[in-house]
Amino acid sequence: MNPNAFSTLPLAPALLANLDTLGYTEMTTIQAQSLPPVLHGRDLIAQAKTGSGKTAAFGIGILHKLNPAWFAIQGLVMCPTRELADQVANELRRLARGEGNIKILTLTGGAPMRPQMASLEHGAHIVVGTPGRIRDHLGRGTLNLSNVQTLVLDEADRMTDMGFYDEIAGIVSACPARRQTLLFSATYPDDIRRATELFLRDPVEIKVEAQH
Ligand code: ADP
Ligand code: MG
Repeated sequence: MNPNAFSTLPLAPALLANLDTLGYTEMTTIQAQSLPPVLHGRDLIAQAKTGSGKTAAFGIGILHKLNPAWFAIQGLVMCPTRELADQVANELRRLARGEGNIKILTLTGGAPMRPQMASLEHGAHIVVGTPGRIRDHLGRGTLNLSNVQTLVLDEADRMTDMGFYDEIAGIVSACPARRQTLLFSATYPDDIRRATELFLRDPVEIKVEAQH
């Protein structure tokens, strides 16, 4: 059997079948290295280049643990920009297709608050957003992160470069202490080192040099 086949992972048959439908025949390098510890519940810091398949690496982690019958925000993904948040949300929607009805909501700046507040009232399983707007909703009491099981910081170095460190720290503190935290970053500057020490617990560290 191909050691990089998704079917080597302890995933639900519906999720495996959907990956097959998407044409994901084998794991990329970052997926093959990160998914086994992620599915075991470990925290993770991963360094990998753009286009290496990071979204599915954390997306499959979120979906594996998610209970579709529990209509609460169980996964939170923070991204640096609205465009990246939209891309991640779209990829998560593709990955979630096999699982029935999983609601994925994007909360990004530049869009009016009110429709986002109305969507939050209806509820969601996963929120993908930018730190500033997520913080706004927390401040207004329109977002409840107390049920988050998986917290993802995607492109963390770009977020701290943009000055989001304090917003991120505030958002992390609104999540339960007992959670899984996955941090993805292309580089490892001091801010990311500090974030890793404060927000992650005994993380597995992965560095992928080449693409795929
Ligand atoms: P990154 O976040 O590392 O820049 P993405 O998660 O956006 O990369 O993935 C890059 C592209 O690769 C996307 O179009 C995605 O659908 C595709 N992809 C991801 N994983 C696989 C896989 N295992 N097999 C085939 N294509 C994949
Ligand atoms: Mg990405």
